Amino acid sequence: MVPLEADTALVLLSAGQDSTTCLAWALDRFHRVETIGFEYGQRHGIEMELREPLRRKMAALNPDWALRLGPDRIIALDVLGRVSESALMADLPLGKRPDGLPATFVPGRNLVFFTFAAIVAYQRGLKHVVGGMCETDFSGYPDCRDDTIKALQAAINLGMDARLVLETPLMWIDKAATWRLAESLGGAALAELIRCETHSCYRGVRGTLHNWGHGCGLCDACVLRAKGWQAYAADRAARSTTRAAR
Ligand code: ZN
Repeated sequence: MVPLEADTALVLLSAGQDSTTCLAWALDRFHRVETIGFEYGQRHGIEMELREPLRRKMAALNPDWALRLGPDRIIALDVLGRVSESALMADLPLGKRPDGLPATFVPGRNLVFFTFAAIVAYQRGLKHVVGGMCETDFSGYPDCRDDTIKALQAAINLGMDARLVLETPLMWIDKAATWRLAESLGGAALAELIRCETHSCYRGVRGTLHNWGHGCGLCDACVLRAKGWQAYAADRAARSTTRAAR
C-alpha cells in the first residue's frame, strides 16, 4: 500500500465561498496543504483568475498558513464539457431541468473531480482530500450527497489500494454556519476576504460588491450565498450586542 503522510491534505479549490472555507479548515489542521483546480469549460473564467490571488491573500492572513500552503495544480478536464451539456458550461437558461435537477448540473462532475484529486493525492503522498460538497443547503446535485462521497471513497481506496480520506467539512452545515466556520478559523479578516475575493455566481458577474460579495444577485448560487450572509450577519450582530451588554 502506498505510504500517505497522515498530516497532509489536498484541497479542491474553485475560489468559491465553500472551497475557500475548506482551504482554511485544512490549513488549520494539516501541516502540509496543497490545492487543485479544474478547468472543464466553465462559462466564465473568473474562478480560475481568482485562485492565485486568493491563495496569496490566505497565506498573508496567518504565518502558519503561509508555511503550510504548498503548490497549486490546475488540471484541464475540458473533455467534461465535450461530453455533457449544462448551464454551468454553455450559455443555456439557468433554473430547473424538466427532471427537477438544476440546469447547472454536470453529470459525474464531483465524481470526476474527486477521482482526479485522489490520483494526484496518491502520487503526492497526501492523505486527506478535501471538498466543499454540502447536503444541507441541498441544491439538487446528487453528487454532493454524503452517501455519494462515502461510496466514492470506498471505490477509490479499493481501486488504488490506498487509505485516502475524502473530507467534506461543510456536508452538514448551512451557508450561515459556513461563514461562522470561516470566522472561527481566520477571524473577521478571513470572513471579509471570503466576502470580497471569492466567487459563487453562476453567471460570472463581479461588478458591484454587495454586502454578501460579488455576483448577479439572481442566480441560485447568489441567492443562497446572500441568504447565508444575512443570517450570519444577523447572528454576528446579536453576538456583539450580547458581548457589549456583559
Ligand atoms: Zn449570480
